[in-house]
Amino acid sequence: MHELSLMESVVRQLRASAAENDIKKITRVLLVVGKMTMAVPDALQFAFEVLQKEDELLKDAVLEIRDEPIRGECRDCHHVFDIENHEFLCPSCSGPNVKIVGGRELYIDFYEGD
Ligand SMILES: [Zn+2]
Repeated sequence: MHELSLMESVVRQLRASAAENDIKKITRVLLVVGKMTMAVPDALQFAFEVLQKEDELLKDAVLEIRDEPIRGECRDCHHVFDIENHEFLCPSCSGPNVKIVGGRELYIDFYEGD
């Protein structure tokens, strides 16, 4: 499962950062997930629940997920826009020369703990 391996790497980052900052318990995590990652938020939640069980650091943590839209930039007129429904045409000049500039990200925006 794609999402489980993604969450395993998120949890690894959380562990490393918590150890560095002497945090014993994480209470809240905000994860930013671009739509280009094709990761399903429900599946990420489920993967997190699996990983946080029996884990002192993470067992009380609440995972919040923020979706980031796919962003395109027109190579002709440099207009930047959100791509919806796989509509890869520039809404400004109707040109087809659009490159993807956002939506691939998956990162921890912040977490809270003590
Ligand atoms: Zn354009």
